[in-house]
Amino acid sequence: MTEYVPGGWRAAGACATADPELFFPISPGGASARQITQAQRICAACQVRLQCLEFALRGNEMEGIWGGTTPQERVGARRQELARRRRERRRQTATARHVPARV
Ligand code: SF4
Repeated sequence: MTEYVPGGWRAAGACATADPELFFPISPGGASARQITQAQRICAACQVRLQCLEFALRGNEMEGIWGGTTPQERVGARRQELARRRRERRRQTATARHVPARV
């Protein structure tokens, strides 16, 4: 459980005192890959990781490391969530019509 922190979850982030450039690498490869790994290590120990990730997913953040994820990982997570919602809608519609749901 995250304790209340004045200034909100951002102020409680483990990255608050880290080099901001680690979290906004220029590219996914080369020296940037090392920066990403370093940033993700910091995120792994962060007490507000979930809030950070939810913020990034809700805001469709396309740049930077948020909640320990890269932009590409967040795109994948969004696609999985959309697919899950579509399956759930189909299941609910099928149940309402009393027809077998496609799996
Ligand atoms: S999860 Fe990572 S980017 Fe988010 S606040 Fe924590 S350390 Fe910073």
